[in-house]
Amino acid sequence: MRVSGLIISYKNGMNVLTGNSVTEYPVGDLLCRIFQGKTLDNITRILRNCINACPMRDNLLTQDEIEDAEHYIIQTLLYDDFKPAQQLAQGSFIRCMECYRALDSRTAGQLLYQERARAGESDVLFKAIGFDTVGDFLRLSYNNYIIDLYNALTLFTGMASVKSGTASPEEQATYDEIRQQLNNPDAVPGIEMRTAYDAGREEFSYSYVISSFLAMAVFEFSHLTIAATKVVRCHNPECRKFFTAKRINAKYCPFPAPQNSGRSCNDYYPQLAHRSKVKADALREMEKRAFCRLYNDKRRHPEATVEIKGLLRTLQIESPGRRDRVLIGALSEVEYQAWLNTIRREKGRSYDE
Ligand SMILES: [Zn+2]
Repeated sequence: MRVSGLIISYKNGMNVLTGNSVTEYPVGDLLCRIFQGKTLDNITRILRNCINACPMRDNLLTQDEIEDAEHYIIQTLLYDDFKPAQQLAQGSFIRCMECYRALDSRTAGQLLYQERARAGESDVLFKAIGFDTVGDFLRLSYNNYIIDLYNALTLFTGMASVKSGTASPEEQATYDEIRQQLNNPDAVPGIEMRTAYDAGREEFSYSYVISSFLAMAVFEFSHLTIAATKVVRCHNPECRKFFTAKRINAKYCPFPAPQNSGRSCNDYYPQLAHRSKVKADALREMEKRAFCRLYNDKRRHPEATVEIKGLLRTLQIESPGRRDRVLIGALSEVEYQAWLNTIRREKGRSYDE
């Protein structure tokens, strides 16, 4: 049986990945990186396309054909976006294939009956599934892969929003629901512990092979309570992604900012916020001068009190909306000032007459 997946060793709050080089991620960080952004969408689209385009899809399903099909899947997923995500996806798909190929015919028949019913109710699952041809078998495996991915994303969003203290009522409800399901010890597939003895250091080392998205989410969250890292939600209102930080009051994420994909939120957004604050302050200053002018006018010309009060009211009511329009770029500062200049008594008019 082939075992593939993301291999992680966990040490003191860090996940250690060994490949060509050793990379360490604080607990929760890998989860936030893999489960957000476009990576998993891209991988899943590639999988779907490669299943539809599989050259041996009409071949009858034999053990040799399954071997070839697994090889084909691994090859098509060897693209270099974010390696840990790719390894997790490969492992998840191969696990589904390995589970199904090991079934006796009676169990396979029962399973197929259930899987067909589930696919009938869904828009994203393949309908033509089975154990007859390679194509049917790959589609069956894909459906299982997708269910695992959806469960994991649901757990991730629910748990991350609750842990970061930002859960909406819907997110809280989702979290409560998935927690109930996780009571079942069979709910989480695809995690295997491996040990190796290091004779030089005279100690055992442990690593985990993770071949399920749901298992990845559970693995990370199970360590989060004892880790130094916190899950935080980005304060950039257009982003709202989750990320890990040492302090719960961290504000902006290290992922590309929706307003400027060339820069990260933590680099870009504070500047943006600062710039708009500076601009808002300047607009308030302009408004304040307009108010002062009217108050001075009122003091000097008590006979025009009624008219000036009307002007003050206009300024009070209309100015905030115009200021907001300047801040979103729908009105220029010059236009705003020009409008302020019109909130005054008509020029040349004398109240002494
Ligand atoms: Zn962000």
